[in-house]
Amino acid sequence: MTVTKDPFYRMLVERGVSRRAFLKFSAAMASALALPMSYAPRIAKALENAPRVPVIWLEGQDCAGNTEGFLRASHPTVAEIVLDTLSVDYHETIMAPSGEAAEKSKLDTMRDYNGQYVVVVEGSIPIAENGIYCTIGGRTFKNIVEETCAHAAAVISVGSCAFDGGLPAAAGGPTGAAGVSSIVPKSTVINLPGCPMNVQNLTATIVHFLTFGAWPATDPLGRPLFAYGQLIHDQCERRAHFESGRFVEAWGDEGARKGWCLYKMGCKGPETYANCPTARFNDGASWPVKTGHGCVGCTMPRFWDQMTPFYGRLPKAPGFANDVTADQIGIGLVAAVTGLSAVHGVASYARKKRQKNGDGAGPSPAAAGPASDESADGAKGIQA
Ligand code: SF4
Repeated sequence: MTVTKDPFYRMLVERGVSRRAFLKFSAAMASALALPMSYAPRIAKALENAPRVPVIWLEGQDCAGNTEGFLRASHPTVAEIVLDTLSVDYHETIMAPSGEAAEKSKLDTMRDYNGQYVVVVEGSIPIAENGIYCTIGGRTFKNIVEETCAHAAAVISVGSCAFDGGLPAAAGGPTGAAGVSSIVPKSTVINLPGCPMNVQNLTATIVHFLTFGAWPATDPLGRPLFAYGQLIHDQCERRAHFESGRFVEAWGDEGARKGWCLYKMGCKGPETYANCPTARFNDGASWPVKTGHGCVGCTMPRFWDQMTPFYGRLPKAPGFANDVTADQIGIGLVAAVTGLSAVHGVASYARKKRQKNGDGAGPSPAAAGPASDESADGAKGIQA
């Protein structure tokens, strides 16, 4: 990347960000990227002289929720300044020019930074009936995406619609909505699914690129492993309640007030890969499960069809034999009262059930999950 506009560190100084805050941010980014803390100084050094990266931000069939996340109203932070290193030369929702002037901005960027600009795509791409369901300036969105991505350094798809079609691709949708990867299969596409994506993951992806000159390692679905490499269930602050058989049974009941596990209320955390419990939203303030609502699995493929009904319980209790239900996890607690630990009691119960049924099968694998060693081997990209 040879693009150079205003160096990053000058922007920090001009906006009153202290050296201490900058170093703290660098450490936080190392943590977000699942790197050892020893990488923090390297990140800081790289960011100090980072160039601004020209970006063309395209929007197709979407609600602009990812743009909202990108523009989140908050006090200036280092993270926001990192995002400011993106020189967004074209963005249909927020740019001042319109019509031919807007098109010229895009074409100028494509010409002046050929092979160096980044394309961010938000929203799905309709392909039914030759793409007529979304046209901009008289051209189909599909055609615009193909042309713009063809000469980009990389493409970042933000949100679930750009990932695999999202809501417009749900059953019954008439537009033939598709995700970016299927439209530009030869391009390097980093997928940041979520409804919306977590802007911290966009920030960390950019920091990785600015620091190492390469995009982060991804799973086979193009999702960065640092953000989509672990099950939500394995990071959830309510996990202890799950293990102990303490579940919310009805909205507003005692368990809901005490913050117990939402598995019985339909939580899809046991089958969803994302870092929502650690990254959280709104400057790290909260995430859905913390507020009392189950995960709906929005980072997973075809989640509108695959994860519905959102309030329907997953068919089996995760981590236990197929025939062990959530109710029986509660029974496992009885064993704990008699002298065993709760976890041991539940595990014993599951083991006995399997032995009794002559069934050695373990829990079914979570859908499209990248956390196994096998999938890690299959990961593409560069993991520093
Ligand atoms: Fe958390 Fe949901 Fe797992 Fe319960 S089922 S521990 S609420 S992710």
